[in-house]
Amino acid sequence: MNSLVKISQLTKVYQTGQVTFEALKGVSLEIAAGDFTAIMGHSGSGKSTLLHLVGGLDRPCAGSVHVNGHGLHTLNETELAKFRRRHIGFIFQFFNLIENLTVQANVELPALLLEKKDKKAIRARALALLERLGIGNQATKHPWELSGGQQQRVAIARALINQPTLLLADEPTGNLDSVSGEEVLNILQQFNTQGQTILMVTHDALAAARAKCVLFIHDGCLVDSLPGGDARQIAQRLAELR
Ligand code: ADP
Ligand code: MG
Repeated sequence: MNSLVKISQLTKVYQTGQVTFEALKGVSLEIAAGDFTAIMGHSGSGKSTLLHLVGGLDRPCAGSVHVNGHGLHTLNETELAKFRRRHIGFIFQFFNLIENLTVQANVELPALLLEKKDKKAIRARALALLERLGIGNQATKHPWELSGGQQQRVAIARALINQPTLLLADEPTGNLDSVSGEEVLNILQQFNTQGQTILMVTHDALAAARAKCVLFIHDGCLVDSLPGGDARQIAQRLAELR
């Protein structure tokens, strides 16, 4: 089996005071290089939890994540931070840009944290990405001067600057109007066509339909899968999960 990402029996229990909550109950899945996989589920089903564990932002209670042969459980915090910079790009619902940095500086930051050496090459790479995403002319602005759709494109550029093994997207269209959302999905699909492996979580059937494969998560368990393409069929399957 030649999987880029192998997720085995992931369990996550949150503890708040005396209350425990099992957000993931033994989730297993594999992702091959070049896949575009969507995880579809209602609010609270465990989507963000799963994405955080896959990206090494949090650790599971049991089970394992392997990305490109790296077992994340074998890495200490410093190694995990390095792993994230090298291998993972993250896109979030609320963009999570740094407000007091310019667009260009936001995009350059992950590359500077990873290498530092060739600032000129990093600057050129960032600008090329921004231009490719149609916002090269926004490079010197700050995030607050941009529309939501433009901000998400900056976040995509930032996520891709280190050519990550895996791009993770958490409700990337959740805070966008439908036109900007469509543009962001077009961009993700284009990068996937050129080989970028993507794992996206969403509760939006139109977004999930852009993936090649849709997995359904319900109460912390993967319960079904469908091919991408048919948003109505995907919406209908989700509606049955209540
Ligand atoms: P989704 O992204 O699908 O909406 P999440 O993964 O964010 O779901 O959350 C799954 C469940 O775990 C929810 O019931 C949520 O309230 C709970 N949860 C998430 N994060 C925490 C946390 N840090 N502490 C306690 N409970 C949490
Ligand atoms: Mg979420």
